[in-house]
Amino acid sequence: MKLVFDKSIPGRKGVDLPPAGVPQAKIDPTLLRSSPAQLPELSELDVVRHYTQLSTMNFGLDSGFYPLGSCTMKYNPKMCEAIAADARFANLHPLLQMAGGLKESQGALAMLHHMQDLLCEICGMAAFTTQPMAGANGELTGVLIMAAYHRARGNTAKKVVLIPDTAHGTNPASAAIAGFEVRTIKSDRSGDIDIEALRSALDDSVAGVMLTAPSTLGLFNPNVRKIADLVHASDALMYYDGANLNAIVGRCRPGDLGFDIVHLNLHKTFATPHGGGGPGSGPVGVCDKLTPFMPAPLVTETSGVFKPDFDRPQSIGQVAPFYGNFGIILRAYAYILRLGCDGFADVSETAVLNANYIRHRLKNYYDLPYDQVCKHEVVFSAKRQAANGVHALDIAKALIDRGFHPMTIYFPLIVPEAMMIEPTETESLETIDEFCDAMIDIARIAAENPESLKACPTTMPVGRLDETRAARQLDIASI
Ligand SMILES: *Cc1c(COP(=O)(O)O)cnc(C)c1O
Repeated sequence: MKLVFDKSIPGRKGVDLPPAGVPQAKIDPTLLRSSPAQLPELSELDVVRHYTQLSTMNFGLDSGFYPLGSCTMKYNPKMCEAIAADARFANLHPLLQMAGGLKESQGALAMLHHMQDLLCEICGMAAFTTQPMAGANGELTGVLIMAAYHRARGNTAKKVVLIPDTAHGTNPASAAIAGFEVRTIKSDRSGDIDIEALRSALDDSVAGVMLTAPSTLGLFNPNVRKIADLVHASDALMYYDGANLNAIVGRCRPGDLGFDIVHLNLHKTFATPHGGGGPGSGPVGVCDKLTPFMPAPLVTETSGVFKPDFDRPQSIGQVAPFYGNFGIILRAYAYILRLGCDGFADVSETAVLNANYIRHRLKNYYDLPYDQVCKHEVVFSAKRQAANGVHALDIAKALIDRGFHPMTIYFPLIVPEAMMIEPTETESLETIDEFCDAMIDIARIAAENPESLKACPTTMPVGRLDETRAARQLDIASI
């Protein structure tokens, strides 16, 4: 497809402005351009067609099934979009309340305050900040709070964070950026963190343990309370990576499981868009003893007046501008109020049911390394197909030709040829069946004509790329 610049015709105009009815202002000549801006010259119709075509080259939840495991790519209700676009919210300036406009910003601050409370209730925590801009930003916030807590108690030996080998890569990255040394704990045969390995790693230097529950294998963690007791007995903190909250939301709470710090991904569990790398939102909640270290400001209420509270002397400081991604928080707020407690219990139940349905339909066709009831996602392995030269990557690309976004592949790292499928609660049985039919058909082709899958995708503007080179030497003009 041609770039908008390649389509430019000198002299063609999109808009004709009428002559100005006022004298031309004098502009300091040093501020004027010496040559015209290099802008494409196109008609309105050229521009509309260009961008409409570009938009159809993208794949999103509005265009099809998106079973990207770990990411919880669920439908984003348009009702939430409409509320976030309401001018009374959308046109507020974030500095309004500092510039004497506290009265005018009460609605927005009340929403943030209520959202902090709702997230506390959903997760069983004492305080929540909406500031972090994504899950990874929430992780960094959480481990900085962990560091501040140990520092405030004069415990300088706490230098290590323990992380299971199934963890998302952002966990060790966040702990390392916060200055911790990261140690990996092996999983046992059932895919759970190995309790004995954890027990022997828990010494005085351990500041905390970062867990995802259910695990990134999509499996229930039956030992989580026992782990929390062990960790707390060695004066360390439990960190909850909330990416998989969709499996338990409305049914159990990380705070009740013994977690001290929690991050959520509003763009996963609470139905806000992921966007291309953003905008996300990764609120962080903490238990009572960690509240003094929360980022400033939290939104507080005194006698019915909502205010940002900057007076937090032990705070780790500000981790993102203002209160975070306001429009995204507002979307999630609308979603939470719309569903309520019963709605969330249905969300997790249906998400788990859908994943188990897929597990059941596909388990005769693909290897299932952990053959047990799963939570909201199921991890297969393409080992059987790999013996025939067809890898997880080939299966993912073949799905694209059949109109589906690929599942997550090669994660978690401990499963060779991993294919991690997460249907979420928002897909119909018909869509899930179509997806399973496509997967079964691909398994048949992998057995009968494996070479043919190497060419996939064949229906897209671009085929197979050298993905590393494509990221480093982006060439959008050759599409
Ligand atoms: C998505 C994810 C993260 C990171 O969240 P972002 O919002 O993408 O920064 C962390 N852990 C797990 C298990 C995830 O799936």
